[in-house]
Amino acid sequence: MKTYGADVFSEKAIRSHLAKSVAEKLLATMRDSKPLDPSIADAVAKGMKDWAVRNGATHFTHWFQPMTGGTAEKHDAFIEPTGVATAVQRFSGRNLIGGETDASSFPSGGLRSTFEARGYTAWDPTSPAFIKRHENGATLCIPTAFCSYRGDALDMKTPLLRSVQALTRATVRLMGRFGKKKAHVSITLGAEQEYFLVDRGFCRRRPDLLQVGRTVFGAAPAKHQQLDAHYYGSIRPRILKFMTEVEHELWRLGIPAKTRHNEVAPAQFELAPMFEDINLAVDHNMLVMEVLRRTAEANGLECILHEKPFDGVNGSGKHCNWSIAYGGQNLLSPGDSPRDNAIFLTFLSAIIRAIDLHADILRMTTASAGNDRRLGANEAPPAIISIFLGDELSAVMHDIETGASGRRTGRATMKIGVDTLPPLPRDSTDRNRTSPFAFTGNKFEFRAPGSSQSCAASQTVLNTIVAESIDAICDKLDARGGDFNEELQLLLQRFMKKHKRVLFSGDGYGADWPKEAAKRGLPNLRDTLEAIEPLKDPANVELFAKYGVFTADEMASRYEIAKEEYRSRIAIEGRVALEMARSMIRPVVADEFSRLATAIGQAKKDGIKVGIRGLTALSLKLGAGLDDLHVKCEKIDKALAKGESRPILAAMEDLRKTVDRLEHLVDDTKWPLPKYREMLFIQ
Ligand code: ADP
Ligand code: MG
Repeated sequence: MKTYGADVFSEKAIRSHLAKSVAEKLLATMRDSKPLDPSIADAVAKGMKDWAVRNGATHFTHWFQPMTGGTAEKHDAFIEPTGVATAVQRFSGRNLIGGETDASSFPSGGLRSTFEARGYTAWDPTSPAFIKRHENGATLCIPTAFCSYRGDALDMKTPLLRSVQALTRATVRLMGRFGKKKAHVSITLGAEQEYFLVDRGFCRRRPDLLQVGRTVFGAAPAKHQQLDAHYYGSIRPRILKFMTEVEHELWRLGIPAKTRHNEVAPAQFELAPMFEDINLAVDHNMLVMEVLRRTAEANGLECILHEKPFDGVNGSGKHCNWSIAYGGQNLLSPGDSPRDNAIFLTFLSAIIRAIDLHADILRMTTASAGNDRRLGANEAPPAIISIFLGDELSAVMHDIETGASGRRTGRATMKIGVDTLPPLPRDSTDRNRTSPFAFTGNKFEFRAPGSSQSCAASQTVLNTIVAESIDAICDKLDARGGDFNEELQLLLQRFMKKHKRVLFSGDGYGADWPKEAAKRGLPNLRDTLEAIEPLKDPANVELFAKYGVFTADEMASRYEIAKEEYRSRIAIEGRVALEMARSMIRPVVADEFSRLATAIGQAKKDGIKVGIRGLTALSLKLGAGLDDLHVKCEKIDKALAKGESRPILAAMEDLRKTVDRLEHLVDDTKWPLPKYREMLFIQ
């Protein structure tokens, strides 16, 4: 694995391109997330540039994650003229540490008035610089945070870093209560990425896929995923070639891509990396999405990251596996001593409390026009946030909740700090695929985020709400001061009594669950418009301000951006559907209809008796479809004029039914759009 990490300014590259004292300082900064000592910035910049140039780079860019949900870069050449026709390559400490850029075209949700159009990028030394290659060269990319003149976060990374700080501090505090010395905290994330691959030739002929990333029309093929023939099936050579290229590129970038396989839907696949420190893992997932797209293009394929590109076929998610490590030890791994178990159960209880109290704002992070189509569509968790613990752990938590009343199964009641946990087999814990937030043996897996979404938002919220719960535990323990284990036992017992309603082991896809959840008082925020409301809840605003993760202004701006983004996406979808229906579908149906009408007329004139019935029946259906098409297009047109998202969506669904019916009536060779059976099965 000589090339692994070859395009990263890694520890090895740092040591070979920087003086020893500078290298040590930089590495310490990276390890401990400390601010960079400004006196070494120039030396670091020079070493970084030398390394990058040696690797073919001619330009550098600050690489950041604006609130569009994607990444952004603006390249500058290293070139600096020194006279007529002479130049040197230069890159200073100032270039490295900070940048100024015109931010006026990035969403700010009102945070930045036009006269302060500048945005500032600031180096995040905890995520190493890397090189991005293209056919004709390479660019040095420096991961940065992005903020306004007044320091408001205009990106996804800044709040994430703040939330990591909050959770780190809370974790150290709680571990202190267990008598543990201060140690390095690492919040870990492993993001499983699902995606579709479709031949580019088909995509080019689908304006909907090109413009909005999903098909707004398309009848279900006779065979899609009923036979489960695709899941974990052998990978076709063309796809395997693509995957191999993706992995080589990711490995060069130091991204630990580990697993690849076919997913449930035809033409759907998954890539899973090894987990990493959360900030790095989020950056890496952004790169994974980019590399997937780029490599697909080079292979004549289109990588579709939309959450629900094909109706009636499984959608794509991004499972975010999350945990906390303390001094290298996973805190969500049940230990084998009573003390370790006590720590595990305390963190577990903090998480249960956090999810129960703040399900609404966690749900918010998964809201998007695309994910709305996936959540609750019978293959993805519902919009109701609940926790799955598995039988063994559920029983333990039940023990804790019922306390002295004990269990009937013969085992004594779990005494925190005294007893060890029964063994928790990993296998049985992770089989409930219908839960949005599942304990999978040594981590939680948040399955609600959509495939195209950055992990940053959900992880920022998760870190913050868990920090708050950990603090609540510490506050309560501090306020008492009796026997530690007994106090803890009582506290966790109370927590379980209060928050067990968020635990659910049943079928999350079942029709009964929403009713049961409503009885339990769990929020069910069905679409984006409902799901972003918690951003305005004063209690949430206060919570995030208290933890220094979002200021009130930043929360308000994120609400505005989410709302606007949703509104315009739906409007674009509506317009695309309307244009396709009017300019692609209707002419073909009209031609077909008039062809039949002529044929019927001619047959009658010639006195031909056979075939008239069939032709007439078909022409009647086509004629009715044509009328229907007209009415439904008018309806979308009206809805678009009003601009309200829900009626636009309803009108689109309605139009789709007509178009999909027509797809089966029109001559296959004349149908203007590639069909599902082609896109999903021809690779
Ligand atoms: P499964 O989902 O089938 O149980 P794995 O447990 O192997 O599969 O891992 C799924 C993802 O979870 C991988 O990306 C893996 O790196 C990640 N993961 C494993 N342990 C942790 C952890 N402690 N923290 C965060 N992610 C983890
Ligand atoms: Mg998984």
